[in-house]
Amino acid sequence: MKIAVVGGGFTGLACAISLLEKEKSVVLFEETKALGGLAGGIKEKNWKWSLEYFYHHVFTNDKEVLGLAKKVGAIILIKKPLTTSLINKKEMPLDSPVSVLKFSELSIFGRLRMGFGLFILKLIPNGLYLEKYRVVDRLPRLIGKEGYKLIWEKLLKAKFGPFAESVNMAWFWARVAKRTKNLGYFEGGFQNLANLAGEKIKKMGGEIRLETKIASIIKNEGGNKWLVDGEEFDKVVMTVPAPMAEKILGKEMVNFPSINYLWGQTVVLELSEKLINGYWLNVLENNWPFLVAVEHTNFIDKKYYGNNRVVYLGNYLPEGNAQLHMSAAELITKYLPYLRKINKRFRKKWIKSIKVFRKPFAQPVFPVNYSALLAKMKTEHKGLYLANMSMVYPHDRGTNYAVKMGNDVAKEVLIDIR
Ligand SMILES: Cc1cc2nc3c(=O)[nH]c(=O)nc-3n(C[C@H](O)[C@H](O)[C@H](O)COP(=O)(O)OP(=O)(O)OC[C@H]3O[C@@H](n4cnc5c(N)ncnc54)[C@H](O)[C@@H]3O)c2cc1C
Repeated sequence: MKIAVVGGGFTGLACAISLLEKEKSVVLFEETKALGGLAGGIKEKNWKWSLEYFYHHVFTNDKEVLGLAKKVGAIILIKKPLTTSLINKKEMPLDSPVSVLKFSELSIFGRLRMGFGLFILKLIPNGLYLEKYRVVDRLPRLIGKEGYKLIWEKLLKAKFGPFAESVNMAWFWARVAKRTKNLGYFEGGFQNLANLAGEKIKKMGGEIRLETKIASIIKNEGGNKWLVDGEEFDKVVMTVPAPMAEKILGKEMVNFPSINYLWGQTVVLELSEKLINGYWLNVLENNWPFLVAVEHTNFIDKKYYGNNRVVYLGNYLPEGNAQLHMSAAELITKYLPYLRKINKRFRKKWIKSIKVFRKPFAQPVFPVNYSALLAKMKTEHKGLYLANMSMVYPHDRGTNYAVKMGNDVAKEVLIDIR
């Protein structure tokens, strides 16, 4: 039994390991030079650890990815970094019930109302039923208009841009319910976790083919096998983003619901000085050119990154947004005045390096009643399985759910083999 796993992100990695625990002949195809997908990263010559293209951490209740880490021997560091929000030009903590109650930008009533609403949301064990509501309609009613306007409306617009109005309330519930104050990070970075998973796959007898972009997957003449760029396989698991899977297989073979996606973009700065106080700063101001500043080295020691401070300026952007076509120099020119607003002491000479990373299909947008549209892992075509971010729902995509999906799709394959 020969199985192809297409895509070397965390879904593909977890799937390949789970299959290899029972089946020996697994080939993992990855288009790029390295494993890890959206959670992969780079390592400069003077760095001891890799750094993700996009800021990454795990929650302490992310048991699937923590399980993978244990399996492959990755070490997790748990810390409680500070999260703050920039609001009316002030950097303020807003990440706990106490900080909500102390939040002076809202009236006492507004604070109580918001705190109570969020508390109720966190108590709901399964908020899938909330998918029939849009966040823009339901959330102001739950937490009060004052808190909604000041905080959440801005967050929603900053994250989802033109699609903010279509996001459903189950997605919001999942974001609130899942969060933990303690955050985890893998020693050596998420890239190290991906590399260890790759080594495990090879040790278990699996094969990894990097820099192999799969262009076509069709049935053979007899219709009982799959030809992956001409090579015969009994089963194929597609873990690439849904629009890419449709392109490779053809819409007559797989037809995902047509939803909107956003690009992920980060401008990563190496700085000589600290920019922000905490690890994570949500920008809750109108018309800023980035939605979050994440100072990775306020979470993980700068000694792993050549003793420089590492800061991400992050965005989710719709296709066609002008920033997606700007060079690093153009972006930093646009961002400079805002960096000074964050920290009055900021000087351009603090910048040691600038890198820009972009990937498409980084954030799916889930509309009302999305569960009725969800694609199934096991397709109607014998031997063809699907597992990707558009199927992680209602929880927000993340490495934990990628690993869960990889494990779950492997189970489906193994049931069919038995
Ligand atoms: C800005 C940002 C911040 C995030 N923060 C966090 C976080 O803090 N914590 C967290 O847990 N998660 C976070 N995530 C989400 C997390 O990175 C993803 O959910 C997860 O990595 C998705 O894994 P995947 O394997 O499903 O998809 P992907 O990572 O997209 O993997 C798909 C793989 O398929 C490969 N591929 C595509 N086409 C082909 C082809 N034709 N042939 C062969 N290979 C192909 C791609 O190169 C890629 O490696 C974040 C994501 C973004 C964008």
